[in-house]
Amino acid sequence: MNKIIGILLFIFTLISCKTSEVEIFVENGLLIENAQIISPENQTISPDSFVVVNGDSIAYVGVEKPIVKGSFETIDAKGKYIIPGLIDSHVHVTATDALSDEEEMENPEIVASYREQLPKSYLYFGYTTLIDLGTAKPERLDDFQKAEIRPDLYFVGGGAVIGNGYGLSNWNDDIPNFIYQENEAYPIPEKYVKENHSPKAVANRIAASGAIALKTYYEPGFDPTQPPFPTPSEALMEELKTEAHKNNLVLVVHGNSLEAHRFLGNAKVDIVAHGLWNWGDFRLDSDSGIPEEIKKVLDIEIKNNVGYMPTLQVINGLRELTDSNYLNDSELEHVLPNGLIEYYKANSNTMYVNVFGDAPKNIISTNFNRLSGRGKINLKYLFDHGGNILFGTDTPSSPTYGNPPGYNGYLEMLEMESAGIPLSKILAMATIENAKAFKLEQLYGTVEEGKKANLLILNKNPLQDITAYNDIDRVVVNGQSINRTNLSAKNADE
Ligand SMILES: [Zn+2]
Repeated sequence: MNKIIGILLFIFTLISCKTSEVEIFVENGLLIENAQIISPENQTISPDSFVVVNGDSIAYVGVEKPIVKGSFETIDAKGKYIIPGLIDSHVHVTATDALSDEEEMENPEIVASYREQLPKSYLYFGYTTLIDLGTAKPERLDDFQKAEIRPDLYFVGGGAVIGNGYGLSNWNDDIPNFIYQENEAYPIPEKYVKENHSPKAVANRIAASGAIALKTYYEPGFDPTQPPFPTPSEALMEELKTEAHKNNLVLVVHGNSLEAHRFLGNAKVDIVAHGLWNWGDFRLDSDSGIPEEIKKVLDIEIKNNVGYMPTLQVINGLRELTDSNYLNDSELEHVLPNGLIEYYKANSNTMYVNVFGDAPKNIISTNFNRLSGRGKINLKYLFDHGGNILFGTDTPSSPTYGNPPGYNGYLEMLEMESAGIPLSKILAMATIENAKAFKLEQLYGTVEEGKKANLLILNKNPLQDITAYNDIDRVVVNGQSINRTNLSAKNADE
């Protein structure tokens, strides 16, 4: 008798399990089946799992198949891998790579086709969230946001440059958020009201514009024969940090020299937006080790948990100006309109001269390879000693065609791998760690219920093979699933 009750209870439990199956009603949704979902936080892979997307957010993630009702598309991801969409936390989406304002004016068609392709190029390489770290053309941020298919874009707006400092070479430019700092050698024009340019006033204004971070600069300049640009004092940097944090803004500072990194490490800023590749008079020691002076500065940054963006592609991108074959790379055809590639080919010599003058290409190339090596060796040191490394490319960083949108992120990943960074770390940096650094982890960084439906479906496992990031099957952005092929510039309608 008891046995029968036991069996009945067992059957009853089975039935109740069945009725407790998850039922989800979605509109414009997706049901992704049989996927292998990778967690960037602990590198676990959950096999044969399901993801349900409702509108632009993730409604369900689990191994149990849910009952989905409403309007949705079903995607079979058997054998494929799902990761959260990638985040590049250092881009500039308002420029046309390598073209000056004058060249933009002379080539409106090229600029228009480039700007139309730009959001898709980032998506083509899996970048579904971008942070624009400074622009002189904020209206173009709005243009970008108007594109029908585009990554989510966050911004700092106009940089909080130091009065008369780097980035403010010309008072004719409209630099509304410059910071007033007294400097006898570099007086600020009288027409500006000092109170409007205090750290407090500027931080309030930047926050009110919808920005998520305050960007400022520590840059004495690149030309040793010229007097240095004014840089922020310790007191000013402290005030900027206080005012930024009061406004819930992350403090991001440009700096790439030993002096800048020392200053910013000690100032405990949140993030330094570049790697330390400018070593002054220091060289790699005899057994290719990092000089003690450089280590000391990196150690300060590690101890103070200062975010460090290696931006390895800044140096490599400039070096590409010396490589006559670079523009034949077939990957460029996916991210740049053909007209622009042709323009680069026709003007590559002029572009080289504009940056490097009459310096021989082989010397520039050797120098930049050395700088690139320093960037990588520092990156490895930071990784080995628990540094807070962040994934940001600075695309495009300077007048070069060597930082193509989207593709530059993939190249940065390849460089990180060749510097000795494990694939698990690269995935974490480009997803959850970037999200946390910019306080966006409620929305991004993992494949979890409640987050934005920004996902990548990959043909390969990115924890085993870096080329998985260039083998994307589909990109899901804001809940919309797009075949990668449709994002390529090759397939843009003429
Ligand atoms: Zn930048």
